[in-house]
Amino acid sequence: MGNTQWHERAAALSIDGRAFIGGERVWARSEQRFDNLSPIDGRQLGLVARCDGLDVDAAVAAARAAFEDRRWAGQAPAARKRIMIKFADLILAHAEELALLETLDMGKPIRYSQSVDVPAAANCIRWYGEAIDKIYDEIAPTGENSLALITREPVGVVAAIVPWNYPMIMAAWKIAPALAAGNSVILKPSEKSPLTALRLAEIALEAGLPAGVFNVVPGYGIEAGAALALHMDVDCIGFTGSTKVGKQILQMAGQSNLKRAWTELGGKSANIVCADCPDLDAAVSAAIGSIYFNQGESCNAPSRLFVEASIKDAFLEKALALVPDFAPGDPLDEATVMGAIVDAAQMKTVMGYIEEGKQAGARLLAGGEAARTDTGGFYVAPTLFDQVDGSMSIAREEIFGPVLSVLGFTDIDDAVRQANSTQYGLQAAVWTGNLNKAIKTARALRAGTVHVNQYDGDDITVPFGGVKQSGNGRDKSLHAFDKYTELKTTWIQIG
Ligand code: NAD
Repeated sequence: MGNTQWHERAAALSIDGRAFIGGERVWARSEQRFDNLSPIDGRQLGLVARCDGLDVDAAVAAARAAFEDRRWAGQAPAARKRIMIKFADLILAHAEELALLETLDMGKPIRYSQSVDVPAAANCIRWYGEAIDKIYDEIAPTGENSLALITREPVGVVAAIVPWNYPMIMAAWKIAPALAAGNSVILKPSEKSPLTALRLAEIALEAGLPAGVFNVVPGYGIEAGAALALHMDVDCIGFTGSTKVGKQILQMAGQSNLKRAWTELGGKSANIVCADCPDLDAAVSAAIGSIYFNQGESCNAPSRLFVEASIKDAFLEKALALVPDFAPGDPLDEATVMGAIVDAAQMKTVMGYIEEGKQAGARLLAGGEAARTDTGGFYVAPTLFDQVDGSMSIAREEIFGPVLSVLGFTDIDDAVRQANSTQYGLQAAVWTGNLNKAIKTARALRAGTVHVNQYDGDDITVPFGGVKQSGNGRDKSLHAFDKYTELKTTWIQIG
C-alpha cells in the first residue's frame, strides 16, 4: 500500500474500543470510556471501554467457566494446534489493518508495524500452536514396582498485563504459550495502545478458539490491572512493564491468592565496544540502529554505550554520521524509520531526562530537542550524549526514548564492573575479536541475554527475559511453557 492509501485508510477507520468478554464485544459495566488519542497528530481515534473490577470479575468468570468445562484444554492436541495455526494465518490475512492500528495507536513507523510487529505476532502464535502436539511428558526412573508420571497441566486462568511499546508482540508472547498450554486467558493491554489486542481476540474467535477462552479488558493499570493482580480466581499472572509496577504485581499476588507471578521488566542495557572489535562499522550501525529503533522505546535498547578510549573518536564520528537517518518522520510514510513517542506523558519524561543530562554536564552531540512540533504529535530528535558519568540519571535510569549515553572505560574489567553496576539485567553486548575475552566477558555480564559482535539476535526459539530487577520470567521458546503449566506427579503402584 502506498503512503496516500495509508492516510486515506487511517482517515476512514472506525475504531471499536469495546472490551471482549465471553466471546462478545461489550462496554464497561460502568459505561465509563476513555479517549484514545493518536501520538502521530494528537487526534482522537475513538473511545475505549474503561474496564474496572466489575468487568474483570465478568472476564474471570467467563475464563473460569471455559477452563472448567474443558472446551479448549479438552480438545485433542492436533485440533488445538489447527486453531492456533488458523489464528496465525488470520493475523496475516488482516496484516494491513493490524499494522495500521498499531501505528495509529502507538506511533511506530508503518514500515515496522508491517515488517516486524504483525509477522512476529503471527509467527509466535503459529510456533506455539505447532508445539502443542510435539511436547511429551515424563516417566521418572522409580523402579519395578511403581510408575511415577510427571505431567504438565495448564494452571487455569491466566492474566496477561502488557505494555504499549510492542502491543501485539507483547500480547502474543503471553497469550500464545498460555493458550497452547490449555489455559484460559484475560489480556489487559496498556491504556496507551489497546486497539490491536481487541482485534486479536476477535480474530482468535474467528479462527475457532471457543468463546471465553481469550478475553480482553482494556483499562487503566490501577483499575483493570490491579483488579486482575488481586483477583482470588486468577491462577497466574504474566506481566511485562516497568520495574516499579512489576514490584506491585508481586505484592498483589502475595497479598491475594499467591497466584504465580512472572515479571518481564525494564532495562538499561550495556553495549561494550573494545578496541579489538572485529568490525567497527557493524558495531556503530548496531549501536545506533538498536537505540533508535522503535523510538528507543524498547526494553532491551542498548542505552549505555561503552567505547574503549583508543577507538572512541573514530566510533563517534561514524555514529554521528548515521544519526540524521533516524530523524523522526510521519509514521504513515513508508520511508520513515523513527516515528512518534507514545504520548505526551512519555514525551515529557524523555525531555526531562535530556534536560537532566545537559544540566549534569554530559556533552550533547546530537538531538536534545523535540521534533515535528507543528504536527500536534510527540516527536523527539535522536539524541546522543558523550562524556556521560556513571552517576548521572541518564546513565542509571531507563529513559525509554531515543537517547544514547556514551561512557568510557579503562580495561575490560572496568567495562564489566560499570556494565553490571545497575539494578537492571536484561541484555548486554560485547564487541571484540578476542575469543577468550568474548567468552569471559559474556560470562561476567549479569544479564538474561548477552550478545557477542552483534545486537540483533532474536528468534522465537530463544528465551527472552532478565535477571536482577529486570524480572524473573522468560518469554519465548519452550521455556515459556514453564510459566503457564504446573507439574503434576502421579504415583501408580504396580503388582
Ligand atoms: P507500566 O509498568 O507503566 O505498565 C505496564 C502495564 O501495567 C500496562 O498495561 C499498565 O496499564 C499496567 N499497570 C500499571 N499500573 C498497574 C497496577 N498498579 N496494577 C496492575 N497493572 C498496572 O509500563 P509501560 O510504560 O506500559 O511499559 C514500559 C516498560 O515496560 C519499560 O520499563 C520496559 O522496559 C518494559 N518492558 C519490558 C519488556 C521485557 O520483556 N522485559 C518488554 C517490553 C517492555
